[in-house]
Amino acid sequence: MTAEQVVARGSSVITAMETHDIRFPTSRELDGSDAMNPDPDYSAAYVVLRDGDDEGHGFAFTIGRGNDVQTAAIKALEPYVLGKSVDDLGALYRDMVGDSQLRWLGPEKGVMHMAISAVVNALWDLKAKREGKPVWLLLSEMSPEEIVGLVDFRYLSDALTREEALAILRAAEPGRAERIERLKESGYPAYTTSPGWLGYSDDKLRRLCKEAIQDGFTQIKLKVGADLDDDVRRMRIAREVCGPGFRIAVDANQRWDVGAAVAWVKALAEFDPWWVEEPTSPDDVLGHATIAREIAPVKVATGEHVQNRVIFKQLLQAGAISYLQLDAARVAGVNENIAILLLAAKFGVPVCPHAGGVGLCELVQHLSMFDYVAVSGSMDDRVIEYVDHLHEHFVTPVVIENGAYRTPLAPGFSATMHAESIADYSFPDGPVWRSA
Ligand SMILES: [Mg+2]
Repeated sequence: MTAEQVVARGSSVITAMETHDIRFPTSRELDGSDAMNPDPDYSAAYVVLRDGDDEGHGFAFTIGRGNDVQTAAIKALEPYVLGKSVDDLGALYRDMVGDSQLRWLGPEKGVMHMAISAVVNALWDLKAKREGKPVWLLLSEMSPEEIVGLVDFRYLSDALTREEALAILRAAEPGRAERIERLKESGYPAYTTSPGWLGYSDDKLRRLCKEAIQDGFTQIKLKVGADLDDDVRRMRIAREVCGPGFRIAVDANQRWDVGAAVAWVKALAEFDPWWVEEPTSPDDVLGHATIAREIAPVKVATGEHVQNRVIFKQLLQAGAISYLQLDAARVAGVNENIAILLLAAKFGVPVCPHAGGVGLCELVQHLSMFDYVAVSGSMDDRVIEYVDHLHEHFVTPVVIENGAYRTPLAPGFSATMHAESIADYSFPDGPVWRSA
């Protein structure tokens, strides 16, 4: 189909896709530094879909080098969206994931899968803007049948069937309206990772812990795993400032083998860590299960690098995690995350999403709020990660009040970046990089 023919079909189909390689030089301040990623430049492989009247924005989050590869992968999906409408995003998502040649690059994992995430999320942004609703509300007002129609149940039926998913969603139908109202009144609880980056000084850690408490947060998170003596000292400082009972999670960012994870967490146990996050390889389901058994009552959390719903299924089946940390832009976007929310509900494991990076807070709030209204029906023992970085680049940034995400009401997925930010931080030719 030529571009002219596409345009002639009217504004209801997508007529253009553009991509941008956007990088923020965060490594200059050691923001985001952890045991495995000492110098990240937070980046977005960014996509804009246009349909004449509206734009859908989406992105994959990376930490610098390779963002050009990620952007090229998004571009490879252009044939799937040009000339398409957003009427049936279940079918469009399954078509993209099932591409008979691109599938070889995964399947359903890695750069290509993250590219699908960016495009799927951009499609949801476009659909929600057209309908004048935030994504969380658009999803929350769908029928259980419409919601399961968005999911690919392939490889899940030994743990979750379509019928079981329908039963979960139907059980949550009563009370949807009340929960929507409660969200609008009081938002969704958050925890903050801002105090705990590995590259920060003890004084900065102490100050940021105090600020977190003053800001109303009831949980913080510290990066660990580079040096045990440093971790013991930093945990002692955090526990002193925050006091007993305050939830302090730790995050090793995949640093350890299984035995080292168990030993390290036991060495920190006197400071009462709430959960240990990414103790080892995100692919090691049985390793996580072993760690969970050995370090109890400290809990295991993971998910930000879990590549698809199949690994989440196995983590849940193995009893390997107490908290499931889905990521809005690593698996194949909204659709696969609905499958993951349903799996978590089936197994009774709270979802505490990964956020931070570039725009991940903006996206993931919609998934947690949809979960609360229409899937798990609960906010108990659930918090969304919050990191106070880079929100100023978004047109409708998250709003945190008294330790909670305010519920977003603007139409869309909160994913749209300011045009000036896209221009200024484009790599390598934007002014920020040219002057570096
Ligand atoms: Mg983490």
